[in-house]
Amino acid sequence: MAKRDYYDVLGVNKNASPEDLKSAYRKLAVKYHPDKNPGDKAAEDKFKEASEAYGVLSDKSKKENYDNFGHAAFENGGGGQGGFGGFGGFSSTDFSDIFEDFFGDFGGGRRSSRRSSSNRGSDLRYDLTITLEEAFTGKKQNIQFSTSEKCNTCKGNGSKPGSSPDRCSYCNGNGRVRTNQGFFTVQQTCPQCSGSGEEITNPCNDCNGQGNKQISKKVSVTIPKGVDDGTRIRLAGKGEAGTRGGATGDLYLFINVKSHELFKRSDVNLFFEFPVSIADAALGTTIEIPTIDGKKAKIKIPDGTQNGKQFRLKGKGMPFMRRGDYGDLYVQIKTEVPVSLNKEQKDLLEKFRKIENERSNPSIKKFFQKAKDFWKN
Ligand SMILES: [Zn+2]
Ligand SMILES: [Zn+2]
Repeated sequence: MAKRDYYDVLGVNKNASPEDLKSAYRKLAVKYHPDKNPGDKAAEDKFKEASEAYGVLSDKSKKENYDNFGHAAFENGGGGQGGFGGFGGFSSTDFSDIFEDFFGDFGGGRRSSRRSSSNRGSDLRYDLTITLEEAFTGKKQNIQFSTSEKCNTCKGNGSKPGSSPDRCSYCNGNGRVRTNQGFFTVQQTCPQCSGSGEEITNPCNDCNGQGNKQISKKVSVTIPKGVDDGTRIRLAGKGEAGTRGGATGDLYLFINVKSHELFKRSDVNLFFEFPVSIADAALGTTIEIPTIDGKKAKIKIPDGTQNGKQFRLKGKGMPFMRRGDYGDLYVQIKTEVPVSLNKEQKDLLEKFRKIENERSNPSIKKFFQKAKDFWKN
């Protein structure tokens, strides 16, 4: 079935302002909301259609894509496929925003969880860049950041010691207020007390009734050995203080491991390229290579080693996080064709060229055999 034009769906023209779009969508959403039309499949489809259209047209970049390319803009997993709950073009925040706006908490019964989650302190993010060597050994580091802490004077309740908060006069202590909007009774968070149901009449001097104080906090963190780029470490209870007895948030450490001059990392394994001269590769030699622990290791390169040959050093890679063992180190041989030859070197190579034979260059022999067969056919 052909999809209807999103502008037609909402009954607006292409130049409609964001306010027009919102109000057009609001009308349709109120009319066709599944809670108002239980069991009515047609209404549900209308509701989905309007939600999808609004999801796209209310997003600046999605709208631009839609204006330029129509529905084709979303054919690969874009706005087109959202079902109820997914809403295609919506992100979850857009979704809650609209429904908070229009319907309050429709389903009911969510108040207590909402209340406690709004009292919980915020989680914090701290980005920490370390070197590959530090990721190998692990490390302890002090970090400093700005956060909020429970006010000691009022023990976090925001009222002057000896006094206590009153019931919020606006919502009568409910934390929510009801207003009528069209067919609906809309419940919203009380604008005066932000849902706490309390009103501070005698604010604590130290925190101005906030219950929390902004501080600069220093924390010593242990970076476990083996962390990788993008590893996230959660430090429970090290985030911002909650309000009015709410739990403290968490601190998330985002690890960024700098890339290394020599070693490339893939999970617990390390790789690097080791340049070897043609003579060494042909005659064989022993090479000394650096390892991530700062030491050296020896590898015997047998005669006739080809370019790209890999040697594995077991257990010389990165540590597995929270395990005792290690990944491996892969050393890849990169033969270097000599450049800027002097006279003596050239003479020797000329001489060598004359005595090269099929036995010493088996790939060349194989190639020419194949080419000959090809020309014959
Ligand atoms: Zn205080
Ligand atoms: Zn209130």
